[in-house]
Amino acid sequence: MHEFSTMAEVVRVVEDEARRRNARVKEVRLEVGELSFLCEEQLRFAFEVLTEQSDVLRGSKLVIEGVKAEIKCEHCGYEGGVRYADDLAYHFSPPILQCPRCNSFDVRIVKGRGCVVKEIVVTLD
Ligand SMILES: [Zn+2]
Repeated sequence: MHEFSTMAEVVRVVEDEARRRNARVKEVRLEVGELSFLCEEQLRFAFEVLTEQSDVLRGSKLVIEGVKAEIKCEHCGYEGGVRYADDLAYHFSPPILQCPRCNSFDVRIVKGRGCVVKEIVVTLD
């Protein structure tokens, strides 16, 4: 489970940070890139399971912000958003890693990969 190991790492980082400040965590804000292919529902589930046992994280809220994919084309220099496949076999439209201007596949991902902790809201007691 990719989501579980990702969230375990997030929880570990947040916990360390909170302990160092003697704080309790109220809210964790995560930025999840659309190219990370992490499922929000499973991230939430993992967060609940992982924070249940934690003295500093129990009862905290998880806020997930999606980050759209952005690419840079090595061929024509295009920089920006991607096109989406219109495939009914999927429940969502997967992003296509191809330049929408010149159709080159020689593109670099600029944004939307990975999962980062953006902000932690804490209460000091
Ligand atoms: Zn291009």
